[in-house]
Amino acid sequence: MTYTVCFLPGDGIGPEVTAAARQVIEASGVDIEWVNLAAGATALEFCGNVLPERTVAAIEGHGVALKGPITTPIGRGHESVSVRLRKRLNLYAAVRPVRSLPGIKTRYDNVELVIIRENTEGLYSGIENEVVPNIVQSLKICTAEACTRIARFAFNYAVQRQRKKVTVFHKANIMKKSDGLFLRCAQKVYSQFAGTVEYEELIIDNGCMQLVSDPSRFDVLLLENFYGDIISDLAAGLVGGLGVVPGANIGDHCAVFEPVHGSAPDIARKGLANPLACIMSGVMMLNHLGEQQAAAKIRDAYGQVLAEGNPENLTRDIGGTAGTEQFTRAIIRAMK
Ligand code: NAD
Repeated sequence: MTYTVCFLPGDGIGPEVTAAARQVIEASGVDIEWVNLAAGATALEFCGNVLPERTVAAIEGHGVALKGPITTPIGRGHESVSVRLRKRLNLYAAVRPVRSLPGIKTRYDNVELVIIRENTEGLYSGIENEVVPNIVQSLKICTAEACTRIARFAFNYAVQRQRKKVTVFHKANIMKKSDGLFLRCAQKVYSQFAGTVEYEELIIDNGCMQLVSDPSRFDVLLLENFYGDIISDLAAGLVGGLGVVPGANIGDHCAVFEPVHGSAPDIARKGLANPLACIMSGVMMLNHLGEQQAAAKIRDAYGQVLAEGNPENLTRDIGGTAGTEQFTRAIIRAMK
């Protein structure tokens, strides 16, 4: 069987890590016809638009994409292309597994959690305006429809994967209406799942403290968009950093797989980026396509390379001396 998968290299380290993931996926034996698509700085240069319609239409048509991170100007300029793409394609659930990995030394060795982030609204609706000079407002949009949809996704995910608990982080003590609605929707969905999975609510400041004190007490985290973004990076720090946390953006019709990290301009084009987060995103994509065997083959291979702990095969962010290419080659060798 040949799959057609959209391929968006993105900006910064994006082209380096997506190329690595593509090589590893190809070496696993799965037959993929890649459709190369532009988004971000390269798209602006060649198409005059950071998110060309052709890119959106192709993902809608083929249903699956592997994507690199995209740079967003800070405090000015256009809206985040990645956020816009998630909204355009209605990829309402971001799924981000955060796991301790063999050979990567961190404060904890028992982290096994999954972040489920609402991906389409909240503060990332992009509705900001200047009321009068020097007074601005940013609107946090919450709809019962989107809150219920993400809660249902999280509980279904938990039950299907035999997870024990869903924890919601919120700030409904302050944002009574918006986070209050998020909580009410989660509670309502939970009432249909009671008995199959535990449910817990924590005010997010306390939740952050508990997460860094003892991450093993958490299982599935259900978060609105903004909290999900921040907690993803915080959780990445518990298991070795952004180089090792993958992600999937799932909707009813399409799925876009991408690492949690950004375009890392500080290390771009130096061959230093850790490709693992993108390779792991590729593994999530293979599972989504039903290629469980190829996915397991890649997972075993990178697990072996990490467990061996040879610094010559690991990138610097996880204690090695290798570059992106050496790490990628080591994973491909371990698959043979
Ligand atoms: P970042 O994730 O790009 O980098 C944060 C730190 O982690 C940097 O020190 C970087 O070198 C390191 N890092 C990230 N990925 C790494 C990897 N694979 N291997 C080794 N080290 C890695 O975050 P940032 O610097 O805050 O953002 C840079 C740009 O990326 C911004 O324009 C931001 O908007 C964008 N961004 C895009 C996405 C996306 O498209 N999905 C996500 C987050 C940030």
